[in-house]
Amino acid sequence: MVRVLNRVQSEDMKNKKEQKEITFFHPDLLEVPEKSPPYLKGYKCKKCGKLWFPKFVPCPNPDCWSEDMEVVPLSRRGKIYSVTDVYIGQPTMKEYMPMAMAYIDLPEKIRVFAQLDGDIGSFQCGEEVELTTGVVRNNTDGKPIISYKFKKVPKEKEA
Ligand SMILES: [Zn+2]
Repeated sequence: MVRVLNRVQSEDMKNKKEQKEITFFHPDLLEVPEKSPPYLKGYKCKKCGKLWFPKFVPCPNPDCWSEDMEVVPLSRRGKIYSVTDVYIGQPTMKEYMPMAMAYIDLPEKIRVFAQLDGDIGSFQCGEEVELTTGVVRNNTDGKPIISYKFKKVPKEKEA
């Protein structure tokens, strides 16, 4: 199932690429492997073991401050803690409005703020969502920027 979705996604991205040049946002936060699904990069402190997202160097633990961090892939699914529909945004986001935005709790006890890929008003608190990638806004040259988003978990039937 994941493989099928991935192919659809990359074909979609290829089509968009032909229209406009696309830039990737936040390489420190998001990894998009060619043959496996995208994941968010957690930063695990090798000294105190605490896990952080987004990237913090040195470790924000006041008893630690180590700079020795390793990248750990975070879970691709989480639950919506809080969701809201946004109608007004920065000028670079204008063509993508309105949009749903949410805090998503990952099993690692990390809360991620992200745009949701789907219709406004269609998400609920407590709903499980899955990591995906998509256009989040344009850069100042008007080119779309791709970053992480969360979407509804695909139904198993579609596998
Ligand atoms: Zn630490």
